[in-house]
Amino acid sequence: MTRADLAQADGTLDVFEQLESEVRSYCRSFPVVFRKAVDWTLWDTEGNEYLDFFAGAGALNYGHNNSMLKAKLIRYLIDDGISHSLDMATEAKERFLQRFKEVILTPRNLIYKVMFPGPTGTNAVEAALKIARKVTGRTNVVGFTNAFHGMTLGALAVTGNKFKRQGAGVPLHHATIMPYDGYMGAEVDTLSYFENYVKDSGSGVSLPAAVIVETLQGEGGLNMAGTGWLRGLAELCRHYGILLIIDDIQMGCGRTGSFFSFEPYGVEPDIVCLSKSIGGFGLPMALTLMKPELDVWAPGEHNGTFRGNNLAFICAAEALRYWEKTEFEQAIGEKAALLEGALQSLIIRYPQLKAEWRGKGLMQGIAFPFEGMAEAVCAAAFRRGLIMETSGTDSEVAKVMPPLTITKTALERGLHILGESVAEVANQFAAQTVPTVGTNQ
Ligand SMILES: *Cc1c(COP(=O)(O)O)cnc(C)c1O
Repeated sequence: MTRADLAQADGTLDVFEQLESEVRSYCRSFPVVFRKAVDWTLWDTEGNEYLDFFAGAGALNYGHNNSMLKAKLIRYLIDDGISHSLDMATEAKERFLQRFKEVILTPRNLIYKVMFPGPTGTNAVEAALKIARKVTGRTNVVGFTNAFHGMTLGALAVTGNKFKRQGAGVPLHHATIMPYDGYMGAEVDTLSYFENYVKDSGSGVSLPAAVIVETLQGEGGLNMAGTGWLRGLAELCRHYGILLIIDDIQMGCGRTGSFFSFEPYGVEPDIVCLSKSIGGFGLPMALTLMKPELDVWAPGEHNGTFRGNNLAFICAAEALRYWEKTEFEQAIGEKAALLEGALQSLIIRYPQLKAEWRGKGLMQGIAFPFEGMAEAVCAAAFRRGLIMETSGTDSEVAKVMPPLTITKTALERGLHILGESVAEVANQFAAQTVPTVGTNQ
């Protein structure tokens, strides 16, 4: 019996199965009741230990209950610091804004106004789309194949995934999806394909207000934008007066190595969306950064009750300590190299699987061409006490994204478990000869 069967059989998940909506998802992949977590380790109510290679989908880049952040948070609560404040000025928000400018923006020569759009990633995307439309007076926005931008209607309209889009229940308008880098094979330059639509008045695609793009598609299968492609896209946007929005919700805050994932590309987006790990402690927080000249909002034109999550501001300001020196970034680079080496050698060990390496920084994975294999690998890993998720429309990529603070020893331990898990399911799938991923059924 698997650990998952055990949990169900003994009634551990009864209340969730009976009361919680069918929409629940991660608790189906990891069917235990969690109690406690420190850094990259979690424990369930039975005392079983798990190593975390998922990090809250990128919301826990600094680990669970990071002791540095926790100490600040506890002190703040004990001192009766403001917890909720709409968007009133508070000391906690003041400190965050000052620190964000000092540690992140100024050293990178970036000048942005900071908007708190509401606590989730999709709020940051909606605010970005709204301001782009308001500034340009245009309605159309271009998103890319396999993109993921969130679950509210505006964000869904620029999201690729058919299943998620269908959940909207209404037509998703005012958006055009264009092929991402590499979508039509290595030979096709999808950027010039896109440019033809922009420049030709017969294309049927109206000049977009903005383009929204991820540098690396965390949910969409770990496809990465090439340097030339993203630079070209930025150039195209500038040339035609289209605003460039980078959705750095999952890849920002160091996931790919640098604080913003677009830094190594040398592009400067007009608008940047951040969320997931910006709050540091896994507390809800989101930012929409915009070039000052784009900040044409009227007071209260975009609103929200939870734009003043001061507990998140406290942890967010503290988490920026990691970015004051270069050591943190260097350490991510070293662990990324270790991770890549391990994944590549795993792929070489099983040539019959025709698996493919993908990713960057501490966001890497293995794409399997056989339907269900990546999921089977993640399930096998979970039975061995390793938490991992899949990525891609067909869940075809087994994704490794530990907290950035993980030690090399813990990373190696997890990779060893991943190796055992691939070995377990390899025979089952190698018998199949026809790749099954990639149909639009
Ligand atoms: C998670 C994510 C979002 C949505 O964030 P939520 O907090 O779930 O609304 C948007 N874009 C990207 C790239 C994401 O990874």
